[in-house]
Amino acid sequence: MGLIYLLYDPTYVLVLLGALISIIASVVMKIIFSIYNKQFLPGSTNAYDVCNAILRDAYINDVAIGHVHGNLSDHYNPTTKTLNLSDSTYRSSSIAAIGVAAHECGHALQHADNYWPLKLRMLSVPVANIGSWFSWPVLLLGVLLDSPTLATAGVYIFLFVVGFQLITLPVEINASRRAVKALRENCIMTEDELAGVKKVLFAAAMTYVAALAATILQLLRLMLIAASVGGRRRR
Ligand SMILES: [Zn+2]
Repeated sequence: MGLIYLLYDPTYVLVLLGALISIIASVVMKIIFSIYNKQFLPGSTNAYDVCNAILRDAYINDVAIGHVHGNLSDHYNPTTKTLNLSDSTYRSSSIAAIGVAAHECGHALQHADNYWPLKLRMLSVPVANIGSWFSWPVLLLGVLLDSPTLATAGVYIFLFVVGFQLITLPVEINASRRAVKALRENCIMTEDELAGVKKVLFAAAMTYVAALAATILQLLRLMLIAASVGGRRRR
């Protein structure tokens, strides 16, 4: 009975809606990035130099700047204290690339400042993994065994994933704020150029908002499925 319900699951529309929101945010981000990836800083200053300048200005000497392959796979690794710039940014002088690189510096600044939401996010990574690995199997078991308790447990486990996305959002927005502040204080860009960086970073933040929205829609789906298990039991 439970399996048949899942095969004809109307709540799947929530997953499709979440995917659509994420795709739109990602496409908009790529379009805005490509616009500002064609506008360059005068001179030969590139993203790598900018990261060096920002870290030096903040007296951060223990963060290495690395190069990773890929397109926009830039990230700061707090465990190894490595700021990894991707092929699309590493030696680029474009406003978009420098904005993305400065955002990663923003994470290094958060780490150096002991910014607590970053610490909380680091701590919640394994918990979020548990949430994404076990929520569906537990919920499905609840459906198959017609057990509302198990199905509800699956929903609660998924809350770990929602919590991780919730803490990610302020961490990302704060890193972008720190990036803009550092670029301004280091006199790396004019206000016009900074306006371009702000647009790129706003579009990037929207992809995290979209990810959160998609996760909340998934939560709603899990809740609806779990509620239907309880409903059958009551009948
Ligand atoms: Zn970030």
